[in-house]
Amino acid sequence: MTTPMRPIYLDYNATTPVDPRVLDQMLPWFTEQFGNAASRTHLYGWEAEEAVAKARRQVAGLLGASEKEILFTSGATESNNLAIKGAYEAHSHRGSHFITVATEHKAVLDTFQHLEGWGAEVTYLQPAADGLITVEQVTEVLRPDTVLVSVMYANNEIGTIQPIREIGKLCRERGVLFHTDATQAVGKLPIDVDQDYIDLLSLSAHKLYGPKGVGALYVRRGVKLTAQQDGGRHERGLRSGTLNVPGIVGLGKACEVASTDMSTEAIRLAQLRDQLESSILGTVPNTRVNGNREYRLPNVTNISFGDVDGEQLLMNLNRVAVSSGSACTSASVEPSYVLKALGVPDDLAYASIRFSLGRFTTEEDIATAVAHVQEVVSRMRQGVQVK
Ligand SMILES: *Cc1c(COP(=O)(O)O)cnc(C)c1O
Repeated sequence: MTTPMRPIYLDYNATTPVDPRVLDQMLPWFTEQFGNAASRTHLYGWEAEEAVAKARRQVAGLLGASEKEILFTSGATESNNLAIKGAYEAHSHRGSHFITVATEHKAVLDTFQHLEGWGAEVTYLQPAADGLITVEQVTEVLRPDTVLVSVMYANNEIGTIQPIREIGKLCRERGVLFHTDATQAVGKLPIDVDQDYIDLLSLSAHKLYGPKGVGALYVRRGVKLTAQQDGGRHERGLRSGTLNVPGIVGLGKACEVASTDMSTEAIRLAQLRDQLESSILGTVPNTRVNGNREYRLPNVTNISFGDVDGEQLLMNLNRVAVSSGSACTSASVEPSYVLKALGVPDDLAYASIRFSLGRFTTEEDIATAVAHVQEVVSRMRQGVQVK
């Protein structure tokens, strides 16, 4: 018996495999060096505490931050919750108006929906057809009682990179907190929290070749937040709970690897992505790219295929692991809210595919994927049953 061929993985924006260099660093912290980083009375605790301190320096190093400004969490969902809800609670004396964007990740949008239930007022900016918002849009809706502006660094579905530095600068001038969900940007783009005027930044290890279930929140020195989880007052009292030492060590190593490899990797991935994109656009009629193609992550392309049924397309593309932004609810499949916000019609939104490449994507993978897409789409359009 032969094992069935596994599809080519082109879904790195959903999650990444753990880099072998990262896994290697993590392993001892599960077994011999299993100490609790909060145990101050013996070697087991001291060495775990030291490993966490090293990881904090590695994460801070990638962001141009100081190690004291890094809090470890369970991932970007928790970081976003802590940043937004924590700011709401700590700054209620200043007001309760917030600004975000309609194309944010659900971990941000649902958190703001929760705040609205608490009495906050939230302005949702609508991006242009290319996914971008402008600093002028933010200027127009800023108010004296605005507490925080939250704009993602780069979008997970279409890769669009927002004008973070200009928005950050505006917020700093107006004395408004600036949060960015940088989960898709960290490890792909150079980020400097000072140059970008960022006060709060969320990131997740499993999007940059680290393990799942660990992330971090950058909190600029002097920025006040209210903890959202009470307990043993770990992480300067802002995030109680025993630290996930192996996960944190993995996140630290993943950040270190990204610091050294990012610039060459971005060039390689952009070349492969462009090859994939231009081959599909050039040979498959009635296709178009969603989102701005200049201000975009190097590893992603989101392509709409006209004249095919979206659900069937995704099913038939069984030799590649890709995604559409569609969400399955109990009753139906809903097209991507991100593409809808860009004005993409429903039928085209259903038939849009996100290809996201990564560290282990090869030229051969891309050639195979392109041939597969060409074959599947042309058979579907000819009405031929695809096997
Ligand atoms: C994956 C992702 C998240 C959620 O991260 P988790 O660590 O899985 O909770 C949040 N925001 C963006 C932009 C993401 O891509």
